[in-house]
Amino acid sequence: MKDLLGNKGAQLAEMSRIGIPVPPGFIITTEACRDYFKSGDLNEIFEEAKKAVRKLEEKTGKKFGGRENPLLVSVRSGAPISMPGMMDTILNLGLTDEIVEEMAEKNEWFAYDTYRRFIQMFGEIVVGIEGAKFEEIIEREKEKEGIKLDQEFSVNALKELVQEFKKIVDIPEPEKQLYMAIKAVFNSWNNERAIHYRKINRLPDDLGTGVVIQTMVFGNLGNDSGTGIVFTRNPANGENEIYGEFLLNAQGEDIVSGKRTPVPIEKLKEAMPHVYDELKKVAKKLERHYRDMQDIEFTIERKKLYILQTRTGKRTARAAIKIAVDMVEEGIINKREAIMRVDANSLQQLLHKQVDERAKLDIIARGRPASPGAAIGKICFSPDEAERRSEEESIILFRVETSPDDIHGIVKSKGVVTIKGGMTSHAAVVSRGLGIPCVVGVENIKIDEEKELLIVDGKKLGKNDVITIDGTTGNIILGEAPLIETGFSKELKKLLKWTDEYRKMKVMANADTPHDAKKALEFGAEGIGLGRTEHMFLQANRLPVVREMILAESKKDRMKALKKLKEMQINDFIQLFKIMNGKPLTIRLLDPPLHEFLPSYEEIMEEAIEKGLDEEKQKLLENVKRVREANPMLGHRGIRLAIVYPEIYIMQVEAIMKAAIKAKKEGYEPIPWIELPMVSHVNEIKAIKRKLQKAMEKIMENEGVKIEYKMGAMIELPRAALTADEIAMECDFISFGTNDLTQTTFGFSRDDAEGKFLRYYIQNHVLQDDPFETIDEKGVGELMKIAIEKAKKANKAIHISICGEHGGEAKSIKFCNSIGVDATSCSPFRIPTARLAAAQAAIGIQ
Ligand code: PEP
Ligand code: MG
Repeated sequence: MKDLLGNKGAQLAEMSRIGIPVPPGFIITTEACRDYFKSGDLNEIFEEAKKAVRKLEEKTGKKFGGRENPLLVSVRSGAPISMPGMMDTILNLGLTDEIVEEMAEKNEWFAYDTYRRFIQMFGEIVVGIEGAKFEEIIEREKEKEGIKLDQEFSVNALKELVQEFKKIVDIPEPEKQLYMAIKAVFNSWNNERAIHYRKINRLPDDLGTGVVIQTMVFGNLGNDSGTGIVFTRNPANGENEIYGEFLLNAQGEDIVSGKRTPVPIEKLKEAMPHVYDELKKVAKKLERHYRDMQDIEFTIERKKLYILQTRTGKRTARAAIKIAVDMVEEGIINKREAIMRVDANSLQQLLHKQVDERAKLDIIARGRPASPGAAIGKICFSPDEAERRSEEESIILFRVETSPDDIHGIVKSKGVVTIKGGMTSHAAVVSRGLGIPCVVGVENIKIDEEKELLIVDGKKLGKNDVITIDGTTGNIILGEAPLIETGFSKELKKLLKWTDEYRKMKVMANADTPHDAKKALEFGAEGIGLGRTEHMFLQANRLPVVREMILAESKKDRMKALKKLKEMQINDFIQLFKIMNGKPLTIRLLDPPLHEFLPSYEEIMEEAIEKGLDEEKQKLLENVKRVREANPMLGHRGIRLAIVYPEIYIMQVEAIMKAAIKAKKEGYEPIPWIELPMVSHVNEIKAIKRKLQKAMEKIMENEGVKIEYKMGAMIELPRAALTADEIAMECDFISFGTNDLTQTTFGFSRDDAEGKFLRYYIQNHVLQDDPFETIDEKGVGELMKIAIEKAKKANKAIHISICGEHGGEAKSIKFCNSIGVDATSCSPFRIPTARLAAAQAAIGIQ
């Protein structure tokens, strides 16, 4: 009934209907709001509201406007669409001088604190007095008392605040308060903020808001009262146990603001066992009802439990998986729902390293483990500084508590530590969302911001000291602790197995070494979709040989270098064929952007100027000068290299064949897919293909072994995409190299754009996403669509894949699934993400 009751109202009504103890209340519907907008008349609605208040009085035994046991209510907006913080709320409505006096007999501080808060809210929201006027009075009073925080006010100061406030607002009798508050909440639908919010979110203007009027309950009436937040399961690791924290004699905002550190919920079992048991039961009931883990706000008023709100609980990636899988097994949800509930991109978070507990650790402090994973970095105290220093070094941000103003520093930090706050504090929630390790509530550490020192048990640590934090255990460790990689949990294994039942796209790996290839298989790769042979040459002992080849002045010199490289390649390929046994191994022939392999011309020049060059260096300088390019990304790389020097690719295919034959002879099943990079024109393929085939046939003939292989091309240039039909006729497969395709479609340099201007584009919303991370669907994606359509028309059997960085990003995978890409290929650590995203894409379109 969200349309009629508004989100909040509908949820409260629903909880009440299933027997959850919510504070009694009633709802004025959105329909009534729309009527009021039409007629401008509130009288009829208000008559009904008064009757409902009488019912509330009966239900609660309290009296609205009564001096003893007064009924106080909250009056809140609640629209059918969520518009967080846009409309108004008034708490503690129904207070008068007489009622406050009566309340003060039991708890004077509380009575006057509540009253001054109410007058301010009523004044600002209902009467429309500028907030600054109240703040000025508060500041003046604080100065007078020599205090910083609201909770330090003396009773007399609070009384003075009330007197001062009353000079600028008239507080009418309770019934009039209610009338005015309902009107103000209705009208807040049309305040500037709300209108603006609807405009930018393209939400309709004519729905109106409901008004929720609910009995106030107080968690600060003494030590038999309290307030807290519980999750129905552990949001850090997903364990099926209630998890949360509370404070005795406190109000909700004491917890949220992090000003007092709450205690674990288990302590409630000792303080009020009956309430604890009831809370546990209610939590389970809410979870079953909403079929997901809930984050529940509760208040205990004189040993009676009230639920104020429930919503789907935020959780770490690790918890999300465990909860989804457990819920399938408990019969609460089905497999598809479980798959759809886990954020695919977040799976990488899980592969975060952890502190090796077996090592000897210098643990200097302990806090609460708010976001898992380990982080190592130097100490930093300010978010601005974290942003700056993170360009050069790893940073751990230490704060007393964090606020939304700190975000720019948090995102740049490897880890976050706060002195105050609990598992639901700002720092905890934000870090969990970002997948940054975080420890909160570390009380034995002090921060001296002025001297920029961290003081732990008398020991002083400064900005250059290295700290390891363990967000899984809450440990703060001095120095660089040894880290270990974590494996897959049994739940993740199960979830990923389920994804394989649903996904249509194959998931392959970008891997160039036996180590990566093994990892890829472990994570579930169905083959290697991109093996960059130039990466195989990046090792220190190989680089000189590659340089020798690139810088060769004659074919003879080049052949000499190639011969050496061939031996190395044969060995590489044998190992890879054996590991991939029975699965395709896509080997991309050499694509070396020259600047990645040559020493820098400028650096040799500098050296020459500084200290002169010996003969060898002089020769190198001349050679580098000869082959260096102004624009190596668009230079003599990929297939262009083989058009001028066919012997390079011939060497490579010979090495592939030799390795395949050797592997086959040893009983393995090699499946080579040979891939040509940087193709722009079909004639490039035609010019080289026959030569490569002949070289391979010759080897097979000599060895008397036949190897089935495929040959294909990378589509990484706009011209290749637009002529993919011609290319497809010469190929068994094509693979989108969306890194270069993005570079050449936008004309943005892969190497420079990020640091020079791309960040600015994203910060200023010139572009929504980084196109090198998430496929630009309208531009690059359109080229892909054209290419797929043309390629399939020309060659029905063509296999189509993507192997740029986008192949491991959930949104891009979804797009690829929608345009008919058969397989994605990504780095091993992203394979779990790709498997899940591909399944989600397939389920999403069913
Ligand atoms: C690409 O361009 O997308 C690609 C996979 O090749 P590389 O990143 O090696 O240029
Ligand atoms: Mg490329």
